[in-house]
Amino acid sequence: MTPEKRKSKEPLCPKCISWDPRPEEGLSLRSGYCIAREIVTAYRYECEYFEMATDALRQKRNREIYGEYPDEEGHFDSMNHID
Ligand code: SF4
Repeated sequence: MTPEKRKSKEPLCPKCISWDPRPEEGLSLRSGYCIAREIVTAYRYECEYFEMATDALRQKRNREIYGEYPDEEGHFDSMNHID
């Protein structure tokens, strides 16, 4: 795709919940791992899998990866519990 055919001039990946830049793997600044596509990719400007990374989505993703953990006061998030 040539740049003039892009609908967006801003890359979507850095704002996406599926973006993992993985600096430890020595990728370029504009490359990273896409969790949704399960591939290493350069920034994309159009993507049918794009989902804006909100704080709530980041917390949900972290719970899925790391499980339940206490906050700074030792309390567990009540949203983690299924009654
Ligand atoms: S889903 Fe699309 S926009 Fe999101 S990180 Fe993957 S390639 Fe980038």
